[in-house]
Formats: sequence, structure tokens, C-alpha cells
Amino acid sequence: MTTRLYEHPIFLEHVTPAGHPERIDRIRALNVALGHPHFSGLDRKDAPQANEDAVTLAHPEEHLFSVMRQIPEEEGEINQIEADTYASPKSLQAALTAIGGAMAAVDDVMTGVADNAFLAARPPGHHAEKAKAMGFCFFNTVAIAARHAQRVHGVERVAIVDWDVHHGNGTQDIFWDDPSVLFCSTHQMPLYPGSGARDETGVKNNIVNAPLSPNVGSDHFREAFKSRVLTALNDFSPDLILISAGFDAHHRDPLAQINLVGEDFDWATGRLMEVADRFAHNRVVSLLEGGYDLEGLAESAGLHILRLMKG
Ligand SMILES: [Zn+2]
Repeated sequence: MTTRLYEHPIFLEHVTPAGHPERIDRIRALNVALGHPHFSGLDRKDAPQANEDAVTLAHPEEHLFSVMRQIPEEEGEINQIEADTYASPKSLQAALTAIGGAMAAVDDVMTGVADNAFLAARPPGHHAEKAKAMGFCFFNTVAIAARHAQRVHGVERVAIVDWDVHHGNGTQDIFWDDPSVLFCSTHQMPLYPGSGARDETGVKNNIVNAPLSPNVGSDHFREAFKSRVLTALNDFSPDLILISAGFDAHHRDPLAQINLVGEDFDWATGRLMEVADRFAHNRVVSLLEGGYDLEGLAESAGLHILRLMKG
């Protein structure tokens, strides 16, 4: 497999307050891990910055303007724009570069330049609803990537699989009444943001939630992934698979109580690649979401990317 890695130094310039879990060190830890010779086969590219217009693929213009108004100007300044979402002077540029990287990754797999791609970006995106920044997220990067695939490449059916330990409420909100997008999520419940019950199915049954109880591990995760997520994917037959790849279901993560190990992310990646081989010409684009223990993040993301490379 040809695996493209999108990265950019701007992701080290989105500053959050001291002690905040969504911090610059996450990207540093990933960079160290990806420096290992195992990853020398990656096709590395700097992510391009998207135009502000791209945000409106998934959000009303007013949401874009609202975020722009709240970006501080002075170096060193940090602005709280929502309960736990903070902006620094370079945050808009970082968020737009995450979006640009996701769109470029979609272009790559749709045109065959790469089989699959991983975007090592922050801030994350899956909590951002149509008109609301929340949960460390300004704009919903994966939703924008899905819309971009449909608008520019004529993709009919996009599947988004979200294995971040928190429910992807923003992605669910954006595609609630859009049967051209299947959204599947495994997540801990109860946990922030509180949504993601099994009976939240979307207007057209295109939302599949597989909540997990606190303290469960690999067996429960894999069973839910097989019986709920893979079953739905096979019924849907996606033309493209996007992954909201959070690694905070790792047992070391401080924000949740699910006990996955690195091999579970390798396993789940392999299962999605089988679906992509069956229906989608291997096209998989994976975007970093959460993952707040640096060791757990580096291990899990490393195994995920290695699986993308090996097929
Ligand atoms: Zn998360």
C-alpha cells in the first residue's frame, strides 16, 4: 500500500493553557514515533492550508465568522471560546491546515496518488457541531472531508468510522438527516459529551452508535465493532472510508476508562481495510482526533499507521 502522511509545523503552534490535555506535546510524541525506520516508507507531505470557504461545506458561514472573531491577536494570548476549547493566535491557521490536509488526502485516494492516508493534525474536529465549537474542536474536519469527496469527486456513499472514546456528536449532528453518509461510532458511555445512545439512529438510519460501558476492554470493543460497525458498513457498501481516529480508548488514557491496547487499533484498521478493499478500491483516509496519554497515543497511532502501510 502507498500511505501518505500529512503533517505540518503549524500543528505545533495551536497553544492551549498549561495542563490542558489537548496539547502540543501530542504532535511531538507522534513525530518521535514516526521517526522510527518502520515508517520510512511513508510518503510524507506538508498539509496545505484550506481556504476559509471550505469550512462552509459543513458549517454555516456565521460559525466561521464567530470562530474568527474569537481568535486572539497578541502573541502569547489564549482565548477561551467555549467550556474547554481555547484559541491562540495561530489556531485558525492550524484548524484550516487540518482541513486542507484532510481534503488533500481525499484527493490523493480518489485520484489514486495514494491508497490511503493519515493526517497528524490538531486541533481535532469531531465534537464541532454545525454551529458550535466544542470539546477542543473548532470545525468538523472529517465532515468537511466527506462533503469535499462528494462535491469534488462525485463520491456517492461516504462512511465515517469514529473510534475515539468520546462520541462524535458533531459529526452525528451534521449528517443526522443525510443518508449519503454513514456515521458509525464506538465510544464510552456515560462520558463527555453525553450523546451516542444506540437509539440515536439519524433520520434515515444512517447513524450507528455502539456505546461501551466504562472499564471494558478489547473483547467488548471488538464484539461491538464486528456486530454493529462492520455489519453496517457491509450493508452500506461505501465508496470511501474516513476514520475519526482518536486513540483515547487506550488503557493508559487519562480522560476515559476503556482498556484497549495498541493491537486493538491495528485490528480495527485491518477490518476497515478489508471493507475498503471490498467496496472502495482500498480508499481510506484517517484523521487524528483524541488521544491524551503520550505513550498510549504514540503506540496506538504507530500500529494504526503501520497497518495502513502493510495492508
Ligand atoms: Zn476523545
